[in-house]
Amino acid sequence: MEFVDPVDFSVWGRVIPGKVGDFRKWISNRINISQLAAHQLFGDVVKDGNLVQIHSDCNWSRIPAMLSCIPEFIEPGSVVVAATGIYPSKEEKYCEIHNVYFRLGACPVCTDPPA
Ligand SMILES: [Zn+2]
Repeated sequence: MEFVDPVDFSVWGRVIPGKVGDFRKWISNRINISQLAAHQLFGDVVKDGNLVQIHSDCNWSRIPAMLSCIPEFIEPGSVVVAATGIYPSKEEKYCEIHNVYFRLGACPVCTDPPA
């Protein structure tokens, strides 16, 4: 049977408090905004210790590569994977097998496992 990659996923992590400047440079390059705009958009997110999106719209098969490519300003151990469009939180469902947050039905990776 042909393997169809399940829904897209995003990778999230928490910025190390002392490395907020590095994050600001990174995100401003990535989404092409000024560092001031990055500060205005993401300053509170980082200050409050919320997760920021590091990679987005990855097929499940690309997740291992994405997880090995985490910027150094992200706190080790804070990295999580979520179905795209979902902020990883206790409000969402979580698959302990795949360590992934999702919202509807069953885990998208369990339901449509890679061959
Ligand atoms: Zn699963």
